[in-house]
Amino acid sequence: MSLAVQRADFDRYMVPVFNPLEMILVRGEGSRLWDQQGRDYIDFGAGVAVTSLGHNHPALVKALHDQAAKVWHVSNYFTNEPALSLAKKLCAATFAEQVFYCNSGAEANEAALKLARKRGVDINPEKVEIVAFNGSFHGRTFFTVSVGGQPKYSSGMGPNPAGIIHVDFNDIEAVKRVIGPKTCAVIVEPVIGEGGIVPATPEFLQALRDLTTANDAVLIFDEIQSGNGRTGALYDYMNTSVVPDILTTAKGLGGGFPIGVMLTTAAVGNHFKPGSHGSTFGGNPLACAVSEAAFDIINDPAVLAGVRTKAARAAAALRAMGERLGCFSEIRSSGLWFGCELSGALAARAGDLVGKGAANGVLMLQAGPNVLRIATSLIISDAELDEGLRRLEKTCIELLS
Ligand SMILES: *Cc1c(COP(=O)(O)O)cnc(C)c1O
Repeated sequence: MSLAVQRADFDRYMVPVFNPLEMILVRGEGSRLWDQQGRDYIDFGAGVAVTSLGHNHPALVKALHDQAAKVWHVSNYFTNEPALSLAKKLCAATFAEQVFYCNSGAEANEAALKLARKRGVDINPEKVEIVAFNGSFHGRTFFTVSVGGQPKYSSGMGPNPAGIIHVDFNDIEAVKRVIGPKTCAVIVEPVIGEGGIVPATPEFLQALRDLTTANDAVLIFDEIQSGNGRTGALYDYMNTSVVPDILTTAKGLGGGFPIGVMLTTAAVGNHFKPGSHGSTFGGNPLACAVSEAAFDIINDPAVLAGVRTKAARAAAALRAMGERLGCFSEIRSSGLWFGCELSGALAARAGDLVGKGAANGVLMLQAGPNVLRIATSLIISDAELDEGLRRLEKTCIELLS
């Protein structure tokens, strides 16, 4: 057995739930990554909207190093300074009065859904139904895949949790037909991410707010991907006139260090009592220290304005490219987050674009077979952005010829 590791080892040693690309990335700086052979890549995927401040950001590296020299883990028998400090900042910056920490997006939604069910049952034992949307994604635990609106992720494993109703996204009448006194929660991504960067309409979100209030159900915004500056606001609900009762986030919050958090009001959060829910690693000092450093950078009007400026620049460039090449039928976007609907000779070839793009030095994502998904760092430089766009155009031209 050779000690050096290579891509072939993945197929030999890993449970085959993923099929990673051929190269192994070993180093990053800003929006550039390098592989084992020293080839460079422009990062247009940000590790699925996670490394929102790029790679090797000095403030994040410093926060990690400083905390690493203090204490790594104390358990929830104790609280700790980074966890409390970040909680205060999250509450000061949002509608929230309480937070629950965990380690991933799925866990944040698991906490939100359990809290909504607990509150529902506290009111009336039959108040357990959850309304969710076709095409949505909420994580990979059994509860969250069942609530997610993509049957391919939730089927084939036996009985699913009960009481979950799916209707079409942006369809107010469909929600009216299923919501009622038995509804404990409506969960929605304000912009559907994995499902193709599809923004909710303002009327739809307002209707969800009105209908949940009228039925004494909680409104959960899954901002795991849309949060932490991605859309040009700290959280996307701030771009709307709607305030949720529970907000979940993860991905970009830690800038690459695993963390998840559920934000809520005291009125809702107090339905949980000591022992109702928990997490060994939730509130980990390293995770909270790095996230606090990331949050301090992102929660700055100048940085958020920068997201909007860069987003406008990138959107214009993508539209112009689509017109030159005739390969995108639609470009949906929200901040530095783009879903390019593929058409013509590129139809249904998002996978090919991602693979060939990597070979050409630009790392991108897909959202289903027909949507090329781009999520850059929030602080990507104009030079990195332009270089990535050049490599993307070269890739499209190669696939078209
Ligand atoms: C990524 C994602 C999740 C799941 O997060 P994990 O950290 O992978 O568990 C849930 N909801 C949305 C909207 C996401 O984008």
